[in-house]
Amino acid sequence: MSEIRGEIVEVNGPVIKACGFSSAGIGDQVEVGSQKLIGEIIAIKKDIAIIQVYEDTTGLRLGMEVISLGHPISVELGPGLIGNVFDGLQRPLSKIAKVSPFIQRGAEKQALERERTWHVQPIVKVGDYLEENDIYAHIQETPLIVHKLLVPQGIKGEVIEVLPEGDYHIQDVIVKVKQEGKIKELKCYQLWPIRKPRPTKGYVLPDEPLITGQRVLDFFFPLAKGGTAIIPGGFGTGKTVTQHQLAKWSDADLIIYIGCGERGNEMTQVLEEFPKLQDPRTGRPLMERTILIANVSNMPVTAREASIYTGITMAEYFRDMGYNVAVMADSTSRWAEALREIAGRLEEMPAEEGYPSYLASRIAEFYERAGRRKIKDNRCGSISIIGAVSPPGGDFSEPVTQHSKRFTKVFWALDKELAGARHFPSVNWLLSYSQYIPEVEKWWQQQSQELKWPQLREQAMAILEQDAYLQKVVRLIGPDALPDSQKLVYEVARIIKEGFLQQNAFDPNDCYCSAQKQLKIMGIILYFYSRAQQCLEKRIPVTKILQLPVVTDIVRAKSEISDEQLDKFEHLKENIDLEFSKLEKEYGSI
Ligand code: ADP
Repeated sequence: MSEIRGEIVEVNGPVIKACGFSSAGIGDQVEVGSQKLIGEIIAIKKDIAIIQVYEDTTGLRLGMEVISLGHPISVELGPGLIGNVFDGLQRPLSKIAKVSPFIQRGAEKQALERERTWHVQPIVKVGDYLEENDIYAHIQETPLIVHKLLVPQGIKGEVIEVLPEGDYHIQDVIVKVKQEGKIKELKCYQLWPIRKPRPTKGYVLPDEPLITGQRVLDFFFPLAKGGTAIIPGGFGTGKTVTQHQLAKWSDADLIIYIGCGERGNEMTQVLEEFPKLQDPRTGRPLMERTILIANVSNMPVTAREASIYTGITMAEYFRDMGYNVAVMADSTSRWAEALREIAGRLEEMPAEEGYPSYLASRIAEFYERAGRRKIKDNRCGSISIIGAVSPPGGDFSEPVTQHSKRFTKVFWALDKELAGARHFPSVNWLLSYSQYIPEVEKWWQQQSQELKWPQLREQAMAILEQDAYLQKVVRLIGPDALPDSQKLVYEVARIIKEGFLQQNAFDPNDCYCSAQKQLKIMGIILYFYSRAQQCLEKRIPVTKILQLPVVTDIVRAKSEISDEQLDKFEHLKENIDLEFSKLEKEYGSI
């Protein structure tokens, strides 16, 4: 891979043209000007390369040198990723902050620290045969994650040298293999081009839900480990709080949070908040299983465009080790706007709402990198992608929402009206959907013998659907005009909304709800409903039923019964029986 030199002939914001590149390749990384700004060749016409530059191009002049490095934009994959904060081009932000705003070529551009040592435990011996994606050493990267060093693509051969267990730098050669007479060195890190998905041995059906601890998501619209979801919602509907909740509580091994061109203050909030958060399962800092990618405001849109590829490439690397990774992109709309701006500068023909015609295929390519995959032998790993979408004015018919919907299987629609009424999470249960219900059914059934998730879910959904109709009737004629059976549906729907769907992210007892507890709460609500229906058949007035003190206990169970006291639900059930039998006795003579 040889360098090619040329010079700038045009500068147009973050897009420049340079001559002398007839033999360069599309996607090659370039260095522009004396400050060696990072860029990428996105088109070549005769000997003119069109380059998007990932840094501020102020000060660039015609005639300045441009060097094509002969390889595509790549990221470094190795220990030191977890717990770190990178920009869209994988530069460690804490280091950048010290140097700003232009980064000189050198150490600052290296994502992984070269000076630091890691305790490496090789797990192969001389004479072993290694091939792509085999694991040759372990490093306890954080107390929560063991980093498994993988043989890079294209390397196969017999091990001829292994270093003993010990502390090494990432650039140290741990293992040497002999491949067709040549010696190949395996270090503690490897490079991978961000736009090229890492190869796997195919898809495996996702059959386990990504438990988020958020009832409306897990119980009604579950996402599978390896699945794709979008959260569309207008301003103030709770996208960010929901993404934070997911990052905090999801039972993924590793979280990659891509703050994609969001307003500066929101990103600051993430950068300040995340390092303080605790992993609820282990009590360790959450950053020990998190990687943050943040676009800083002084970087042009082009870097924003690259950031989601940087994030997903890191996710693929950890997936290849066999981990379940969850990627959160907040927000994909900002990323699509970056595409639009770049396309505009390239004078491409705009399609819907000014977005380029390839918007749909780019969105598809991104979500296709999710999935549960077979890596080697019995090793499987998964990437779940959750993309926030911020449609202007909350209008879901705009192109980014529509295309994202086509390529994803879970739709968590956030609703302005619900948010306005302080019903959080403001997930609209009538517009949202999940296409993973059949896949995760078995998992849910294993959670409880008596409480059957598919039936509970279906019954609750039917009540909520009837309620949507009744709401309209009530608005016209008031609740008193409803017959008792419908009044009961109306009230049970209220209990489901208040006692199950609403979940306060800031209430320590309610911010996370285990799958077991979700089943118990819904089980008790529907048990109440069936007992109430029996009473109605005995002509007991619905008003009497709704006055039973146990109704309040049911609504409060979510925050008053903790995950450690699930047997209290039995007690609640006994109370329901007691109160209903009293009522039945009272009306026994009818
Ligand atoms: P967006 O990112 O869509 O603009 P935010 O995530 O910032 O919206 O949410 C706006 C406000 O809504 C938050 O400040 C918070 O008060 C409230 N909110 C959102 N989700 C929840 C939740 N699950 N529990 C409690 N409050 C919430």
